[in-house]
Amino acid sequence: MAQRLEAKLLRWARKLSIVMSGPPALAFLPAICLATFWFGGEGALLICAAAIPIAYLFLGGFHGPAASLLHAREGINGLLQRTAFEELTNQVFNRTEELGWKSATFAFAIEDFDEVHNRYGKAAADQVIARTGERLIAALRDRDSIGVLGDSRFGVCLDPVRHLDLELCIQMAGRLQRVIEEPVSVDGTVIYISVSVGFCQQSRAPEKDGEAWLQAASTALSSAIRRGPSAIRAFSSKMLPQPENSNALMEEVARALEDGQITPWFQPQISTDTGEITGFEALARWAHPTRGVLNPADFLPALERAELLERLAELMMYHSFAALKVWDTAGVKVPQIGVNFAGSELSNPRLIEKITWELDRFDLTPDRLAIEILETVVASAPDDMITRNINALGKLGCRIDLDDFGTGHASIASIRRFSVNRIKIDRSFVMKADRDPEQQRMISAILTMAERLGVETLAEGVESVGEHVILAQLGCDHVQGFGIARPMPIEQTLSWIESHCTKLREVPRIMDGKP
Ligand code: C2E
Ligand code: CA
Ligand code: CA
Repeated sequence: MAQRLEAKLLRWARKLSIVMSGPPALAFLPAICLATFWFGGEGALLICAAAIPIAYLFLGGFHGPAASLLHAREGINGLLQRTAFEELTNQVFNRTEELGWKSATFAFAIEDFDEVHNRYGKAAADQVIARTGERLIAALRDRDSIGVLGDSRFGVCLDPVRHLDLELCIQMAGRLQRVIEEPVSVDGTVIYISVSVGFCQQSRAPEKDGEAWLQAASTALSSAIRRGPSAIRAFSSKMLPQPENSNALMEEVARALEDGQITPWFQPQISTDTGEITGFEALARWAHPTRGVLNPADFLPALERAELLERLAELMMYHSFAALKVWDTAGVKVPQIGVNFAGSELSNPRLIEKITWELDRFDLTPDRLAIEILETVVASAPDDMITRNINALGKLGCRIDLDDFGTGHASIASIRRFSVNRIKIDRSFVMKADRDPEQQRMISAILTMAERLGVETLAEGVESVGEHVILAQLGCDHVQGFGIARPMPIEQTLSWIESHCTKLREVPRIMDGKP
């Protein structure tokens, strides 16, 4: 409480010091003196004359930010050297805080710069660096600062502005990236480069100082470089280093992913009304050369630490679309496929572009893809990039499934906000639902809420006929679980679909939930 009050006082003092050191103070000073003399006479004027400089001194006006600001374009060729740039970032951070405005720092790296150096020589590499600096200067406002962060790295710190949101930052990162990536011509040789970008909005800095802010942009840059070429990443706290754990497994699983040992297995979802297949969920499996088929629990954490969840999602999507094509070609009806996105997969500003491209490549409409997003992700007020991507996926026409519903406390508002199409009721509510009235009450409550919100429902982990029947009776739309089928490799799906359809024709009454 006392700390908050102190911080508040400090902010006011800073604001007052800005006002006192700015032109408005000069404009009002004569009026204040005159009024003091008018109402209080000579004595009051004397006190006023002494009090103003004391207050000014007290508020730090003589050392205020405005007095000591570095110029944005000091240094060689208008670029600040690292230490000066860091200092300036600090000043911009404080000024942005004081004004309550917005700013962002960007970090750029020319990828594989060593290769440029080795291939074209030092002189050409120096030219590339010089051109990059010039291009950044030309593309930015005079008040924005540009610094050299390393051999082939540059930093940009924007002068504070009133309005700057994530979307603008992404656009700006893309625009600057395009400008720098223009081929460089050196003595008749054209050199092509690609550039990774990381950025951090001032409001997203992990700590309240310029150093942490700039470091956050560099962290986002490292993440972009790992995902390159030409990737852009916004800083997210998830990028901060996690405790070290089994590097060997991380390397092994990364290799397995690229060698095609990790692929989806497919688990069917069926309608409780008709028994027809309404979709499949793609679940990752690692066909380990010595340990057999491994479940996600054995390798997902390592993939996450290696920052490879995004690559996994890419592969899962590719195989899932290929599977849809197999089923379409065989003439069987599978309306959609669910692919799991744990959170970090949703942080790529180009995700929508990528998905649209993949759908086009396979000639599939967006409604064939259901993005499964954990309820915990939606409930945790995800960062702006995740929110933006979920909304854009909905707009594109992809379906949004809220996974593990009931475990993550998502608000009704967030279900609406993210245009969720279906909630997947977690297995913990489904277990023994046929024998436990408490479970039934919980499921009924969820189903009522879903109905009011106009979203569909699916029950996960349905293991027995009893559970299947009670869910159908309570009005749940779809079911998925070992009781219907376990996840299976693509090669087994066609024969499973065929036998399921045969069973459906023979015993329709069990499948419609009214035995
Ligand atoms: P999930 O998305 O909730 O997937 C359902 C899990 O429940 C799957 O486990 C599935 O095999 C299992 N399951 C299905 N029916 C039953 C049942 O009747 N009884 C029981 N006891 N379990 C059932 P799996 O395949 O081990 O996946 C575990 C979790 O790993 C998934 O939970 C999902 O969160 C994650 N996961 C799987 N594939 C991917 C992926 O490609 N990307 C990401 N990010 N996560 C994935
Ligand atoms: Ca799932
Ligand atoms: Ca689930």
